[in-house]
Amino acid sequence: MRLSEPQPRATRVSASLRGIAPALLACTLALTASAFRAAQGAPRHLTALEGKLLPLPGEGPVLQIHGKDQLLSATTTYLFHTLLDKRLANREVRLEGTMKADGTFEAERLFTIKEGKLYRVRYFCKVCNLEALEPGDCICCQRPTELEEIPVADSDNK
Ligand SMILES: [Zn+2]
Repeated sequence: MRLSEPQPRATRVSASLRGIAPALLACTLALTASAFRAAQGAPRHLTALEGKLLPLPGEGPVLQIHGKDQLLSATTTYLFHTLLDKRLANREVRLEGTMKADGTFEAERLFTIKEGKLYRVRYFCKVCNLEALEPGDCICCQRPTELEEIPVADSDNK
């Protein structure tokens, strides 16, 4: 048996899937562990990118940095859905994550930027006093949650 059979070259996934497939894969692996770790742990060896968040139709979320589009994925479905939130479109954000071999940037933490200050994003139901991890309806009362931005100094760095 020959061991040196030519390996099929990594096939280029079509543009529309590039952003999503790695994210889905990452989510399956990371869902249990890293959602909570990422929320409170100190950044390990994460790269920080700052730019404008844009949903690119058919491609998924991108971060526009100096006019260049960086395709995004995320370590969790929560974060991936947040990156696609229309309320965050065209906003200046800071993403901390890892550059992947397929050219996407896998975000692990997201902050919005207002007047040079960082904000954590959360989804909140005031009726139930419940915080949700991603955009959508409240798991309790089914009303749409509100996007809230919490100054980082007040929440994470105490
Ligand atoms: Zn509720």
